[in-house]
Amino acid sequence: MTHPIYNFSAGPAVMPQAVLKEAHAHFLNYQQSGMSVMELSHRSALFEQILADAEASLRRLMAIPDNYKVLFVQGGASLQFSMVPLNLAHTNRVAYIDSGSWSQKAIAEAKKHVEVTVLASSADVNYSELPQVNIVEDTYDYVHITTNNTIEGTAFLELPRMNDKTILVADMSSNILSSTYNVTDFGLIYAGAQKNIGPAGVTIVIVRDDLIQTQPLLPTMLSYDTYATANSMYNTPPTFAIYMAKLVLEWLEAEGGVALMEERNRAKAERLYRFIDESDFYTSPVAPTSRSLTNIPFLTASPTLDKQFTQEAAAAGLVNLEGHRSVGGMRASLYNAMPLAGVDALIDFMSVFAKKKSI
Ligand code: PLP
Repeated sequence: MTHPIYNFSAGPAVMPQAVLKEAHAHFLNYQQSGMSVMELSHRSALFEQILADAEASLRRLMAIPDNYKVLFVQGGASLQFSMVPLNLAHTNRVAYIDSGSWSQKAIAEAKKHVEVTVLASSADVNYSELPQVNIVEDTYDYVHITTNNTIEGTAFLELPRMNDKTILVADMSSNILSSTYNVTDFGLIYAGAQKNIGPAGVTIVIVRDDLIQTQPLLPTMLSYDTYATANSMYNTPPTFAIYMAKLVLEWLEAEGGVALMEERNRAKAERLYRFIDESDFYTSPVAPTSRSLTNIPFLTASPTLDKQFTQEAAAAGLVNLEGHRSVGGMRASLYNAMPLAGVDALIDFMSVFAKKKSI
């Protein structure tokens, strides 16, 4: 192998080497406490500082205004599929944009609790492009959007236009902090950490404070109010995951912030897409106007060749390139921690593989 492993997993995903090294250096003795971070009480001053630092860094990175709370929750983005309708659907009328498998899952959960209108869907074209959303005239409790469709490789890099009263809720799991969004365009944003923020185990919720309400009948752990009131420490939070998130967030700031990440991600995605589009061996299933910067699916002419590709790529140190099990093919996830050199190594491999198989 002439280069390090490049991990193209969609999540849990590659983390910055500098962050892993820093965590390693402090692993057994955090700040002279004689304890690993994992052994610290969540009520200790040391951990309280970690939580405060993580929140402060995220606030700076995303310019989160003071009237938004940042919550650290467990249960993954999938639990948010339930918490969002349980907390925000006061009149029982909510709307969803169906842009892929994760939106579908969010819709299915919401339907268990409330009346759901699907405003637009691209299911009829296999989610190969974003659905066309017309201006929403009605006022729903919220409109839910998945900003980046991890499996299908599409992204709303510009938000559809809504009416002024619309409360937009976003599942930003796979492109939070990798593209610039304006937090004030949303009532609530949620994201599982395990792609762009850190390891699995913590989910970030950013929510406008007027949307948080006390609901005595809601189970305590499903209420945003519980997390907001107790500063995400009503019960034991996932301390290690939050520590790692803090390190990633601070790394991101030191690198230059979200705007710079977006620029780099655009360069990475454009380079890979240019190669795929110019190739007559690989194809993209995604319409050019809908393409994600973070998840790039591609195909060869047959599932057999696809399998050979991922096997040979893994042997060459390019790992986790399999497409999601529901769609097959290949998928390269190019989150913030994937260097341009990883994309170049992938393109070199793709080129050699294509030549070999075209003979
Ligand atoms: N939403 C999106 C866009 C995702 O990509 C994922 C996971 O990959 C999820 C939701 C589910 O996240 P979790 O596994 O944290 O529940």
